[in-house]
Amino acid sequence: MKKIVLPGAAFLMLFFSCNQQNPAPMPVPAPVARPAYAIAIHGGAGTIRREDMSPEKEQSYQAALDSALTIGETILKNGGTSLDAVEQTITWLENCPLFNAGRGAVFTHEGKNELDASIMDGATQKAGAVGSVMTVKNPITLARAVMEKSPHVFLTGRGAEQFAAENGITLTDPKWFFTQERWDALQKIQAEDAKKSGSLDRRTDSKFGTVGCAALDNKGNLAAGTSTGGMTDKRWNRLGDSPVIGAGTYASNDACAVSCTGHGEYFIRYAVAHDVWALMVYKGLSLNDACELVVNKKLVEKGGEGGLIAVDKDGNISLTFNSEGMYRGYARPGERKVMIYKEQ
Ligand code: ASP
Repeated sequence: MKKIVLPGAAFLMLFFSCNQQNPAPMPVPAPVARPAYAIAIHGGAGTIRREDMSPEKEQSYQAALDSALTIGETILKNGGTSLDAVEQTITWLENCPLFNAGRGAVFTHEGKNELDASIMDGATQKAGAVGSVMTVKNPITLARAVMEKSPHVFLTGRGAEQFAAENGITLTDPKWFFTQERWDALQKIQAEDAKKSGSLDRRTDSKFGTVGCAALDNKGNLAAGTSTGGMTDKRWNRLGDSPVIGAGTYASNDACAVSCTGHGEYFIRYAVAHDVWALMVYKGLSLNDACELVVNKKLVEKGGEGGLIAVDKDGNISLTFNSEGMYRGYARPGERKVMIYKEQ
């Protein structure tokens, strides 16, 4: 039988014309020339609906995303590095109780907060990651220290905390991470489990809020980072994609910087962040086509809910997700936008 090969763009058009249940989010327009900087952020993806959101809550998320974006944009505007922009933006989001990272992280089955983070430098392809840390105030800073001050990429648990103490990273009482909303979410999931309804999706009820940032600086260097508390009611030191280089985070100056959010097991299985990079480098896809193919085709087919933010070496930006919403924003010189819902 003769195999019919559709060219990439035609295939994408065919696929998307068959999948029009939800209005797609407006793509970010391409810059005319490489901008002096570009930055994109996310604060988690999932079933985020206008009808479930009070105007006050919506306003707090918009304001928080806007403040986080300002942190990174100011660094980049002043000639700072993409790595500093990524680390400082994520640090701000980790300290904000609205998001599932640092303060505001979701609770494990045992009622603890176990935090995961990773960062990658597109210029050197060095990376640092930490998993299941419980006393580190800003896991993204520890991930950067692992990258810069250790011969390793990935440290977990007590060893990671020991490394933090030895390297002057701020430690905190685990109570710092507590928020009533996340605690209540754990109680709700456990009560449902006790009734054996088994219907509650741990990620859906975690109210999302993993945070991430991708940036391009004026030297053309890309960087990406991601930080999370993972999923509500997680057990057995479960790690998601966020601290896994190639799954939740990836950056390489030859193509793009990517930070993901979503159902971590799928993002690990399909090496999502690296897949975007590979499609660009090996197949010559544009940033947006690569992100669409991975998030709205591959992940949809496999059942993996979530999204990603990405910046490429020419300053293109993609904010792509297959869930109902994603807290997100981006900035380039003269351009700036913060969004929550799909139809924005
Ligand atoms: N990706 C995170 C994890 O699986 C959760 C999220 O992004 O909502 O741990």
